[in-house]
Amino acid sequence: MVIILGIESTAHTFGAALLDGETFLSNVKDSFTSEEEGMIPAAVADHHIRVLSDVLSKALQGRTDIEVIAYSASPGLGHTLRIGAAAARALAKKFGAKLVGVNHCIAHLEIGKKETTAKDPVFLYASGVNTQVIAFHEGKFRIFGETLDMGVGNFLDSFGRKKGLGFPAGPKIEALAKKGTKLIDLPYSVKGMDTSFGGLLTKIETLNEPLEDVCYSVQETVFAMLVEVCERALAFTGKNELLLGGGVACNKRLQDMCSSMCKARGAIFHVPANEFLVDNAAMIAWLGKVTYEKGNTVSIEQAGINPYERTDEV
Ligand code: AMP
Ligand code: MG
Repeated sequence: MVIILGIESTAHTFGAALLDGETFLSNVKDSFTSEEEGMIPAAVADHHIRVLSDVLSKALQGRTDIEVIAYSASPGLGHTLRIGAAAARALAKKFGAKLVGVNHCIAHLEIGKKETTAKDPVFLYASGVNTQVIAFHEGKFRIFGETLDMGVGNFLDSFGRKKGLGFPAGPKIEALAKKGTKLIDLPYSVKGMDTSFGGLLTKIETLNEPLEDVCYSVQETVFAMLVEVCERALAFTGKNELLLGGGVACNKRLQDMCSSMCKARGAIFHVPANEFLVDNAAMIAWLGKVTYEKGNTVSIEQAGINPYERTDEV
């Protein structure tokens, strides 16, 4: 079996994972967190440089028989993508391994298909930066809808930062929302299969309500928006499976709402384990394997990054 090392560094997480055939031998990560601020690119890059050798050596477990190194080449923060690409190039030279650059968003999607029984799903990719409804249609992944401003995770983190919840705020908002009882009427922005969160972010700053109720109302409102666009994409494409990916998909309330919608229309709902929802290197190794088997490798000299590549450009 070909042993593949995956390296993830698009944003807050630096990760490394080892894949042997269909089996992950390791999946190690260290994510930037902060009490006061959000993802400042230079601060996140400093974090990755600090943890890089530890994460890589834990993932490699002393092995040197690495035949392929896959790294996240796009999309993401230029500051942090460069660190993963540099590590991949250095290790490729050291191990005499082949290099594969992969798109992080497609990695989220493909790992979901590997870890569940999903075959041809509509995919809700709800992460920090990205909020997209994607499906494979006529030969490529196409984006049916997306956020018109910020990603849903960034929206939650921005709101949380203003309330002193630190970064990342999503899990803390989920915990507070469980104690909320009152549904506050909030702006709901769905345009076709697109969403937007900016107006809502401005509105909640003006509220003078208990934080638990605001968190509860925020979740109910933004997740209803996401479920609505997923249902529209299912109806439009005629597909009958929904697959979740991205860190926000760890949220149990979002999972429950998606599951209810699927049940109501006779569709199958899929969600992989949290370890594969948040940014992780296992998914980079897995897409690296798929890509390598198609013969798509890059030379060390060509192994660059593409911070702005879109899912539908691949
Ligand atoms: P990713 O970029 O895919 O790793 O996702 C990171 C984003 O997921 C951050 O914005 C987090 O706040 C968000 N997140 C993580 N866990 C949860 C949760 N349980 N509920 C809502 N958002 C979450
Ligand atoms: Mg991601």
